Amino acid sequence: MSYNPYCVYPDPYYVYPNPYYVFPHPYYGYTGSYHEYPQLVPILPVPISSNNLLHSGPNEYEIISERFLNGWLHPDKPTPTIKQIFLVAHSTREGHTYARNFNDYYNRVGNMQMLFHGTRCECRIGRGSLKACDSETCNLCEIIKGSYSMEKAKGQQMFGRGIYTTEVSSKADVYVDNVDDSQDSIMILNQVALGRSKIMYEACHNMQAAPPTYDSVTAATYAHGGEVRYHEAVVYREDAICPHAIVVYS
Ligand SMILES: [Zn+2]
Repeated sequence: MSYNPYCVYPDPYYVYPNPYYVFPHPYYGYTGSYHEYPQLVPILPVPISSNNLLHSGPNEYEIISERFLNGWLHPDKPTPTIKQIFLVAHSTREGHTYARNFNDYYNRVGNMQMLFHGTRCECRIGRGSLKACDSETCNLCEIIKGSYSMEKAKGQQMFGRGIYTTEVSSKADVYVDNVDDSQDSIMILNQVALGRSKIMYEACHNMQAAPPTYDSVTAATYAHGGEVRYHEAVVYREDAICPHAIVVYS
């Protein structure tokens, strides 16, 4: 793959540019300040029309909503409704640096997957606001302003102190924590560079890094002799994961 410093979207499904962007994406309209743009860029379903061949393929909105709905596997949880999808703009200086670091890392290790992460949100971002709030305990905003922090990764989980993601949206939903319960829920879809991922058949709570010669771990599910019901992958460095979009759902 050729290196493009402005492309943090190596996903082969990525369709760009989207004429329905309401706000200029920093990579297409950068005019000087990292902070003048909102952190979220709304995307809309593009009407598929045989008269307009440009729009006849799957677009970003469809790809993300399909991934979210197909990943909703818990039989006891009612199927959610998607209210809105936003792309993360990486419009702050930290966000821009972070996206570039991710791109460098991904180009080294490969094996990028699009995986969900649920976390705490204290504000109205995605549900009235397009800008991240200033609270340091609003994890969602901390992630989309800069990105994930290994300092905030908790140590007592199944595979130690790492950043946990899953292809199962209903599993990430367990970790979605809306401080205001009356609001729609919000989940992050990430680009995760798993590189060489070690399949783990049992828990290993004191891990601090990927095993030697590996870049990440993936939990084997019950069906494959492991100890988890649903998919779970863990990376142990901040540049191995980059928030890509957020899904607002009820
Ligand atoms: Zn917030």
